[in-house]
Amino acid sequence: MTFDLHTHHRRCGHAAGDIEEYIRAAADFGLTAIGISDHSPYFAASEDHPAPGLAMAASEFPRYIEEIVRLKKKYEDRIEVLVGVESDFFPEHVGKYDQIYRQYPLDYIIGSIHVTNGKHVSQNMHIWYELDEEQLERERDIYFGLLQQAAKSGVFHIIGHMDLVRRYYRDFMGTCGALVEQTVKVFAETGVTMEINTSGIMRSEGTNPCLEVLELAHRYGVPVTFGSDAHKPVRVGEHWEEVMRMLKEIGYRELQMFRGRQPVRIPI
Ligand SMILES: [Zn+2]
Ligand SMILES: [Zn+2]
Repeated sequence: MTFDLHTHHRRCGHAAGDIEEYIRAAADFGLTAIGISDHSPYFAASEDHPAPGLAMAASEFPRYIEEIVRLKKKYEDRIEVLVGVESDFFPEHVGKYDQIYRQYPLDYIIGSIHVTNGKHVSQNMHIWYELDEEQLERERDIYFGLLQQAAKSGVFHIIGHMDLVRRYYRDFMGTCGALVEQTVKVFAETGVTMEINTSGIMRSEGTNPCLEVLELAHRYGVPVTFGSDAHKPVRVGEHWEEVMRMLKEIGYRELQMFRGRQPVRIPI
């Protein structure tokens, strides 16, 4: 069984193509399942659509879910379609997000940290590159603290691209290694699944998380899953084979998928 749980589409304002194009691309690629997981709206904002280039409007979310459910039925003979969302994690609003997600037939929720300390982790990246070492250490503590809180919240089935901030640290494991290990332990204790995200490979950043983190995750028994983070249909399933090779070398024998919020073990 081959699958990709992390895909976007035009609703978020920075991805190309409709959901159906991603499903067709996945079927053509030969995947047996595809999860659609566009960025969550800013549910706690006072406006309906505060950031059109980052996420869909809150009022659009029901239509988003309906469309996936309709396509799940339409494509059931060709490919399994799963209903997901890549959710931001704001500790002060997580209860509200959880309450909203419970109203929908979601198969899984990916929790991702995109904003720490008011700074977007992958937009306006220059802000990060201007930080000195002391500031970077402060940001590191906040970022990994948020990851641990997200795992402990119990709202998310999967934690997305956990070492996304790696690009800002010259010696990532040297600077962040202790916190990475502490965070991986929290993942193991809470039972949350860690995503292996392949979108960094095209930027020569390798997988997120990197090999060292994956080896730690394996040592602590953290389940892992696969996501391309495709923002274009053509990228669906990208690097599946090499990630499977990497996981087998580390010692992983299975991947985690989700149906109806329940984990499903997939042998590799
Ligand atoms: Zn995106
Ligand atoms: Zn993300």
